[in-house]
Formats: sequence, structure tokens, C-alpha cells
Amino acid sequence: MALTALEIYKHLPKKNCNECGVPTCLAFAMSLASMKASVEKCPYVSPEAKALLSASAAPPIRLVKFGTGDNEVSIGDETVMFRHEKTFFHPTAISAIVTDDLPHEEIKKLVAEADAICWERIGQIIKLDAVAVKSKTGDAKRFSEAVKTTAASTQRALILMSDDPKMIEAGLKEISSRKPLINCGTETNWEPMVKIAKEHKCPLVIKSDSLESLAMLTDKIKASGFDDMVLDVTAKTPAKTLENLTVARRLTIRKSYRQFSYPVMLSLENCNDEDEAMLASLGIMKYASIIIIEKAQPWKMLPLLTLRQNIFTDPQKPIMVKPSLYEIGKPCADSPLYFTTNFSLTFFTVKGDIEKSKTPSYLLVVDGEGLSVMTAYAANKLTPEIVAEHIKNFEVKSKIKHNRLIIPGMVARMSIKLRELTGMEIIVGPSDSSGIPAFIRAMK
Ligand code: SF4
Repeated sequence: MALTALEIYKHLPKKNCNECGVPTCLAFAMSLASMKASVEKCPYVSPEAKALLSASAAPPIRLVKFGTGDNEVSIGDETVMFRHEKTFFHPTAISAIVTDDLPHEEIKKLVAEADAICWERIGQIIKLDAVAVKSKTGDAKRFSEAVKTTAASTQRALILMSDDPKMIEAGLKEISSRKPLINCGTETNWEPMVKIAKEHKCPLVIKSDSLESLAMLTDKIKASGFDDMVLDVTAKTPAKTLENLTVARRLTIRKSYRQFSYPVMLSLENCNDEDEAMLASLGIMKYASIIIIEKAQPWKMLPLLTLRQNIFTDPQKPIMVKPSLYEIGKPCADSPLYFTTNFSLTFFTVKGDIEKSKTPSYLLVVDGEGLSVMTAYAANKLTPEIVAEHIKNFEVKSKIKHNRLIIPGMVARMSIKLRELTGMEIIVGPSDSSGIPAFIRAMK
């Protein structure tokens, strides 16, 4: 359980020597309590106190990684129940499934479709994270060939699905270096599965009939010296699944219940499309660290990945683009010039609306500290002075010969001051950027 600053202070040497970078031990204790410092910074702390303080600073949910290189997937390491309390750190990973009973050409086709689930949205790439290979035939040779075909067809992280240790060993022979997630260990097979996971340094999914038996199983596995676990909490009904996801997170975060201090998995198999989409949305919103989806079609994945992007955006840090003069299309000296703020959603909306006008243009992005136009203006983060400074810094006037600036309709009241500061003709544009195409047509 996380210790308070005063509890931490009791274990510090109380020399007030400043060697840790802060003047007193109490100040250092406060930094440790707020996780802004590491206990390693104090050279005088005893080994016992170091062990205790390190354990108390450990994240309530373990960080688990699988896959390699650019396709490594990190899950867990969350510290709060609700995003507004701090933020969520690792977006729910989503995996498609292929099965070993399919012909190889079909596996390649499905994997290519899974790979194609990748879009750019508000300047970020949203994509499927992994592909799982499931043993359906019970034939180790067939499984290892399906794993080999899948691995050769994608660089995404991989998951091996079978409760038979022989299948997992056969699959690992092909792709051990890709560090797959092994799915899964149960009450009956956990010992050989843990042995394989340890040998290949891969994380292991653990599954049981209820949260109570799952807690006992994680205890046993932890006592055997293995801790790189993911817990499958999928239940028979959506209501029970939601309950499991919520109880596991609450026990870990609020009660420091170590048996559930692992990322959790939702395994959606044998669902119809509607249930699969509904349960995946539920998992993204309510604590699933990874979701395995049987039918990962683009129509379903785009809203799910968009939802995930929204839930896992840090509420304290707006997504921003770099202030700059952006060219939309191939503008020339006669092209229109607009400005907006650097809030990503605003930028990409305005950019899209300018593209729809089919008129190559310049778009000056002003640093409004990641706020939308109206919010930045109301907070005094978007003033005529700031806009004028950006016009000067990005040498905007050297790109155009008409000396006209189209400003968002919502900040029409900055026109006069902006004209005084820049010497430009200020044209008040539409209040909503969706009006840009009609506005430009009317100006021609
Ligand atoms: Fe206290 Fe250790 Fe920091 Fe010195 S280095 S002030 S003893 S916490």
C-alpha cells in the first residue's frame, strides 16, 4: 500500500544533508509520496527501508510487455480508478484472432486485413495492436505452421492461444524471439505453462472460473516465482464481466489487494457482431488492459479505436500540433490565409474544412496552449498580440501578396487591434469552420 509522506519520513535517516537534491528528509519524503523522486537518491537509507519504500512505490497494477521493437505492446501500470483523478497510461491493446484450422492463404488474408486496421486521427496513429493465433485442431504441427505463417505476414505483436502446453511449445519454437503473450494458464496446466513462460521470458494469461479462484491461482503462481501475468476476467454474461472488471480494478487500486495487481484481459469469442462491439466498448471504458476480438472488421474497429483514443488521452494535456504556417494543397502568393489555434481537434477540423473548399490555402497555427479558439480567447491565451507575433515569427507576409488574413468568426472582436498590429486587411470568416467552403466560394 502506498505510504503517506509522514510514514515514509519515519524510515528516512533524518540527516537533512541535501544529497538527494532537496534540503530536508521531510521534503524528500514528500517527493517520494508524490512519486516525483526515487528512494535510490538517498545514499544513507538502510537496505530494509529501501525494500519497504520501493515496494510501497511499486505501481498498483504491474506493467506487462509483449511483442518487440516498434510493435511492443505495454499494458497495465495504471494507478487510478477514474481518468479525471490523474490519467490512464496504457491504452487497451486490441488483438484479432486467426485459427490453425484455416488454410494458409486464408490466414494470410485475415492477417493482411488486421494489418490494414490503421488510421491517422488528429495527428496520431490508431491501429490494431496484435494478432492471436488460436489452436483449434489440437495438432501441434498444424499450430506451429499457422504461427509461422502469421508471424511471416505481420510485424504486429503476437499471442499464442491454447491451454495445451505442447501447442504453446510448438508455437514458441517458431516465434520465441517475438516475445508473444501466452494464453493461457489454468488451475490444471499452470505449472508447465509457467515453466514455458519463464524459459522463454514471455508473459502469461491466467484464467479461472471466478475471481475468487483466480486470486488463489495468482497467489500460487506468484509463490512459484513468476509474476509476469495477465488475468482473463471474461465471464459468461456482460453484466458479470463488467462486475469482474470493476471489482478487480477497485480491489487493486482502493484496497491494494495484490492478487489482482495485474493487467486484465477480455476475451470476446463466439459473440455476434453487436455483442462483440458492445463488450469491447465496455472493456475500453472499464479497465480492460487487452481485448481479444474474433471479428476485427474496419467498421467496428474505427469507432472502438476512436473511443480508446478519447479515453486514454491525458485530460490535463490537450493533444496539440506544432505552431507553424501550414500549407494545405499547394498554395501560392494569391492563396487565402487563415489562422486557428494549436488544439489538435480544432486544427484537423479546420484543415479538413479548408480541404473541402478545394482552394489551396495557408493555415497559420497559433500557440493557444492546446485550447480551442473560443476557450483560448476567453482565457486570454489567444490575443491580437499573440497572433501578430506568430505572423512575424513565421514570416507569413513573405508568402502572400494580398496582405489579407481570414480570422475565425468567433474572435471577430480582435479585428481592429489585429489590423493595427499587423497592417493587414482582416476578414472575418465563418464562426464554424464547416462554413469555409461556402465562404470561399462567396469570396471568389
Ligand atoms: Fe535526508 Fe537522505 Fe536526503 Fe540526506 S539524502 S536529506 S538523509 S533523504
